[in-house]
Amino acid sequence: MKKLNGTLLICLIMISACAQPSTVKHINETNIPEIALAPLRFLASDELMGRSTTRPEIHIAARYISEQFRSFGLRKLEGLADYYQSFDLKLNNPERIIPSENVMGWVEGTDPKLKNEFIVLSSHYDHLGVAKQPKMEEGKLDSIYNGTRDNAIGTTAVIDAARYFSKYPAKRSILFITFTGEELGLLGSKYFTEHPPMPLKQIVYDLNIDNASYNDTTAITLVGLGRTSADEDIQKACIVYGLSILPDPLGGRLFKGSDNTPLAEKGIPAPTFSLGMKSFDQSILNRYHQLSDEVGNFNLNYGMKFIRAYILSAKNIADNPVQPEWKKGDEFEGLGKSLYQRNQ
Ligand SMILES: [Zn+2]
Repeated sequence: MKKLNGTLLICLIMISACAQPSTVKHINETNIPEIALAPLRFLASDELMGRSTTRPEIHIAARYISEQFRSFGLRKLEGLADYYQSFDLKLNNPERIIPSENVMGWVEGTDPKLKNEFIVLSSHYDHLGVAKQPKMEEGKLDSIYNGTRDNAIGTTAVIDAARYFSKYPAKRSILFITFTGEELGLLGSKYFTEHPPMPLKQIVYDLNIDNASYNDTTAITLVGLGRTSADEDIQKACIVYGLSILPDPLGGRLFKGSDNTPLAEKGIPAPTFSLGMKSFDQSILNRYHQLSDEVGNFNLNYGMKFIRAYILSAKNIADNPVQPEWKKGDEFEGLGKSLYQRNQ
């Protein structure tokens, strides 16, 4: 091979050195706070009445998310009606059937080979609805579970990621999913994995978001830290925004508490990206599934760092030439190997 001339070599070094800063610049420019936080303010507003899967307002939330996806030009999955994976939820007590929808769309990857692999970015958009009786909480009589942290912020981050990746696609394809029915027992994500609109083996990773609350704004919590090979990509992204990574404060018990579980149980490496929790103490319980989980007491500066670190994490994973996998000895390692037909 011909020797590179000096100017060309300097250019190549500069391009590789600048790749990360320009990505960060693009993430920040695509998601300025006034735009990036609009979904949070809408989804957590009183008008949506707590986004219960059993209330009519949940469909307004779904419509809003799907129109965001449309405005970014996301692709629709074959066989779905628009951006909806619609299904009937059968509920007991009283027995009834509730029409429900997961909302999803995707962006094609730029790499001719890696684009056949999908990274899922997921969150649940439902929450607890309205209390039977108004209650006094922190000096305020309230009855609406706004679910700002749980999980309007997660759904907002997925929408914001879709805004970024539709403009600046990654090497792998990215599927954005907002699940319904999580609070009733992961019903939307279970439906998705039991009726997958695409072969599950094409999904090589899921970076789910879900939250109780936070008590450390210098960190994110990765529920599933140490279990997949993508930790480093997430760590590199968080450092850029001055955030460190904390493990599950309940020593692993949170792992099976969110929509990452049905995907993990199919073998897909799937941790949950959460707001920073140094311990699962009273400061978390004061907001977790409480009426006071509102935008007014949520640290929006921290929320912006959290959203941007999530997008950059996804970008690092989606561009990494090595397919992420469960770590050796993990409870899901075998399922992963059979899903992706790797040698046992
Ligand atoms: Zn949640």
